[in-house]
Amino acid sequence: MKIAFFSTKPYDKEFFEKHNQTHELTFYEVALSDTSVRLAEGFDSICVFVNDKVNASIIEKLAKLGIKLIALRCAGFNNVDLEAAKNANLTVVRVPAYSPHAVAEHAVALIMTLNRKTHKAYNRVREGNFSLEKLSGFDLYQKTVGVIGTGKIGEAFARIMQGFGCKVIAYDVFPNQSLIDFGVKYVSLDEVLQQSNIISLHCPLTDKTLHLINEASIAQMKTGVMLINTSRGALVDTQAVIEGLKSKKIGYLGLDVYEQESNIFFNDLSEEILVDDTLVRLMTFPNVLITSHQGFLTEEALTQIAVITLNNITSFAQGQKSGNEV
Ligand code: NAD
Repeated sequence: MKIAFFSTKPYDKEFFEKHNQTHELTFYEVALSDTSVRLAEGFDSICVFVNDKVNASIIEKLAKLGIKLIALRCAGFNNVDLEAAKNANLTVVRVPAYSPHAVAEHAVALIMTLNRKTHKAYNRVREGNFSLEKLSGFDLYQKTVGVIGTGKIGEAFARIMQGFGCKVIAYDVFPNQSLIDFGVKYVSLDEVLQQSNIISLHCPLTDKTLHLINEASIAQMKTGVMLINTSRGALVDTQAVIEGLKSKKIGYLGLDVYEQESNIFFNDLSEEILVDDTLVRLMTFPNVLITSHQGFLTEEALTQIAVITLNNITSFAQGQKSGNEV
């Protein structure tokens, strides 16, 4: 099949070219949008990522251009209007799991860095400052860690935190029996919010989870709580979190995702003026650590993303189901 890739980065090109044998791949750096959609002309399929806009009007244009398949090279599909795709007779496939460990381990990296301040220590030592002032952290051992969403990534995360000797509690609409067997206790969402020293979000973004972390849920949390979001930015009401940081209710914030991340994350804007004042405010807090959606960025995950996406496309081309349709 002829596939147009949007939002391509050098690592996408490298891994897809390495694992492709049958398809004709064209890589565009530009994100899919109302203006760039015309680049899909002459292709059978498009391949998109987390911040490509795949709304009803773009889907309509894609269908008119003869696109038959939208292949997401990610797990989340909140950026696709599935109803519009169905109406336009477009198949949507995704990569439900590539390496849950990649994202889970990144969440742990955020926790470890925020807690033990290795990012600050690194800069201090490089400048000849060997002082330990203000670098103290806390033992993870025996702290309560609350996991919201215990699917593939949440499970991997919970297992790592159990390994630290933490007490892991969880909330999910569908509890995971293997975690119960492993000693994780399922409780209500309120109890996760009230009892946890660290809260990590691993549920998808849906109508029900939009702004799951808001003024009311923050009010329930322990003072000094650490909040980690490696899932989707809009799970968190950013303004409410800023107020929580200002009042010191939230003691630490680690974000790999941000509600308004599209057009910012994945790009080098170091010589630009940042116009998103909310993000800039977040960046000013000494106890906030932001990474730009890099949870998936491991060798293993990139390999799986390329292999599974290409298999999804091959199955579609052969008129078969891959099992990864959404
Ligand atoms: P998954 O489908 O395996 O697990 C999601 C879990 O959330 C399920 O157990 C589900 O029952 C639960 N859930 C759904 N609605 C819920 C609700 N209202 N409250 C509590 N739990 C709820 O998904 P996964 O592979 O573990 O991925 C989780 C999320 O991580 C994805 O949706 C995606 O947004 C995000 N993600 C981020 C990155 C990154 O690079 N940062 C990479 C991949 C995935």
